[in-house]
Amino acid sequence: ATQPYDDQNIFAKILRGEIPAKTMYEDAHALAFHDINPQAPQHILVIPKGAYVSWDDFAAKASDAEIAGFVRAVGEVARAAGLVAPGYRLLANTGMDAHQEVPHLHVHIFAGRPLGPMLA
Ligand code: 5GP
Repeated sequence: ATQPYDDQNIFAKILRGEIPAKTMYEDAHALAFHDINPQAPQHILVIPKGAYVSWDDFAAKASDAEIAGFVRAVGEVARAAGLVAPGYRLLANTGMDAHQEVPHLHVHIFAGRPLGPMLA
């Protein structure tokens, strides 16, 4: 079972404007900002505005409009950052084995250099 949503998580605070972030995209469904500890020359996090703990929680509970809006937003962020031609990698750590640290769904966008076959 998915853990309950903790509205004191760091990304909830960013969504509420309680702590700053380097926001680079926002629409009705999503917010995107630069990762505080970048693992690639471009490292962007895209989060849904709804209160979803993880990919699993979102896929199971979000409305079709939220899911479509979020997926489109991830694509829009990558386009806005000029990443389509060079390419980019998406990653959504989900749960303990994947080392998900922040319990609000986030999709990582990595880009800006050849990334190799996979992240460890
Ligand atoms: P996870 O391991 O949960 O998939 O990734 C969490 C990510 O959030 C990490 O890459 C980490 O650097 C980033 N992060 C954690 N706290 C903050 C913060 O306060 N601001 C920003 N911009 N990124 C954060």
